[in-house]
Amino acid sequence: MMNTLREVPNDAVIASHQLMLRSGMIKKLGNGLYSYMPIGLRSLRKVENIIREELNAAGLLEMKPTVIQPGELWKESGRWDKMGDEMLKPRNRGGQDMVVSPTAEEAFTALVRDTLTSYKQYPVILYQINTKYRDEIRPRYGVMRGREFIMMDAYSFDANQESLNQSYDKCAAAYRKIFKRMGLSTISVKADTGAMGGSGSEEFMVESEVGDDTLILCPKCGYAANVEKAACATETPLDSNGKPQVKTDLPIEQVATPNVFSIEDMEKFFNAKSTTFLKALIYKVYNCAIDLSGTEAYKNAKTVTEGGVKYIPETFFCVVIRGDLDVNEVKLAALLKASGAELAEADDVLRLSGAPHGFVGPVGIKIPVIADLSTQEMHDCIAGSGKEGYHIKHVEPKRDYTPFMYADVRTVKPGDKCCECGAELYTKKGNELGHIFKLGDKYTKSMNVTYLDENGKAVTPLMGCYGIGVDRTLASIIEEHHDDNGIVWTMSCAPFQVAIVPVKYDGQMKEVADKLYDELSARGIEVLLDDRNERPGVKFKDMDLIGIPLRLVVGEKNLPNIELKIRSESDNQLVPEGEIVQKVEEIIKSEMEKLRA
Ligand code: ATP
Ligand code: MG
Repeated sequence: MMNTLREVPNDAVIASHQLMLRSGMIKKLGNGLYSYMPIGLRSLRKVENIIREELNAAGLLEMKPTVIQPGELWKESGRWDKMGDEMLKPRNRGGQDMVVSPTAEEAFTALVRDTLTSYKQYPVILYQINTKYRDEIRPRYGVMRGREFIMMDAYSFDANQESLNQSYDKCAAAYRKIFKRMGLSTISVKADTGAMGGSGSEEFMVESEVGDDTLILCPKCGYAANVEKAACATETPLDSNGKPQVKTDLPIEQVATPNVFSIEDMEKFFNAKSTTFLKALIYKVYNCAIDLSGTEAYKNAKTVTEGGVKYIPETFFCVVIRGDLDVNEVKLAALLKASGAELAEADDVLRLSGAPHGFVGPVGIKIPVIADLSTQEMHDCIAGSGKEGYHIKHVEPKRDYTPFMYADVRTVKPGDKCCECGAELYTKKGNELGHIFKLGDKYTKSMNVTYLDENGKAVTPLMGCYGIGVDRTLASIIEEHHDDNGIVWTMSCAPFQVAIVPVKYDGQMKEVADKLYDELSARGIEVLLDDRNERPGVKFKDMDLIGIPLRLVVGEKNLPNIELKIRSESDNQLVPEGEIVQKVEEIIKSEMEKLRA
């Protein structure tokens, strides 16, 4: 059942999506829903098996919970509402809330709750390779971001922090082996630990032009972080003449600025550099779980307690940052232990700051001010006044307003200085293949998991979670290994290792092709025999497109020699029929070893 295509639909813009469709690996069933056809499934299983082998070798245990899970578990953990619209929540015939698993912290935690009751049973790392569903707003790039996909997700359960660190390191090491065996060049970066809390997180990225992630990298010391997490050195703020800013004793002075809206307008109007401006922005923050009880604005705030955590479903902050910089919303949300942060709507901005966007300022504002570290040493600044059509000069940050806290919420840009070594940072676009994460007691606490320690005392275990997107990994191998003619599979993930192409599947050529097929198969080699009644050129083109690493052409005029062509090389060679099986076996072995090394 082979069905290669010449044309692909317009929405297939990246190489892997086009090649997976053209080679007949996948077919679209609906938006973000792809079926794997026989040849595609073979490679998908190879990817799964490499993951499985390496995780088993590292001592992880595979199991398979259900894909459909009781909604109850998600209410217990506090994620029933927080997961948002990505989580598909069907009801069963009894009217009970169900979930189509988008991830499985809850399911695994619930399983462990009844199973691991004594310290003697720890540590354990469990995993599954199973279907996930996420109702992505914009599924794209084929299986790179689908709605239904396969994920390997692992969960470690440890008795203490030291043990969690070991489990985490074990998974990180297994990940490196996994991606290496597939022929993937990955970069591991520090990642956001977000509302999930937790202490450590790394993402395994592949470089990609269409990557959804921005990586911040240091050329000197190797610092690597997702922009959602990246920090940089805080530089001394400079005045408009490039000198360090100096404190002023002048009082705040109000200036009418009727047509000044943007930072550029301000630079012109004041004839000053944006490094001397305090940019103030009002953010709406969702499910903020930090303690705000000391602040005036939160005396009467509504709070919700879910999963043992108290949070405010919707709240507002004023974020102040140096005028030439931008706020990173993911960093801001992580700081506030929130599930998200976004710029507030115009009416909220006016209500809370007294002025429309552009004239908002930190002086006199009633909501808590989060001051970015970039403003810490700023002096004699220009800021919004909190009144439409006016700005203020000579603002002294600590004198004129008191931040609720100073924190790092800026978006790091290329050219900023590395926080570790001071070198200039640069960026790359990346795609996340895998993620490892120290969760701590977030789920075990909210879902009441305990074990009895040596003294019979109930203790809450610690968790880690670890995910790899199987489909996205498969597509990424194609992204890294293809040419103008099609896929160039690595030996470890090819649907077949060898393709036998008889120029004509007839007479002596058929006999030799069949014999080769049997001999190679008998040695455990995966062979595709192209027995179609097509012109040789068509068959060669198809085999190139499908990307099988070794091609054996059985042609009348070459017999008793067989033509051997390696997909990744341009030349072919003639090998006597009697030696070809051994030759093929050697190449496969050496290729597989190279990937393992
Ligand atoms: P992203 O930022 O790309 O949406 P995520 O942070 O939601 O990823 P995780 O929850 O960490 O992803 O899931 C683990 C892995 O599952 C990801 O590293 C990725 O490889 C894969 N994955 C996530 N969403 C999808 C999807 N819609 N389609 C295919 N693979 C996915
Ligand atoms: Mg996602």
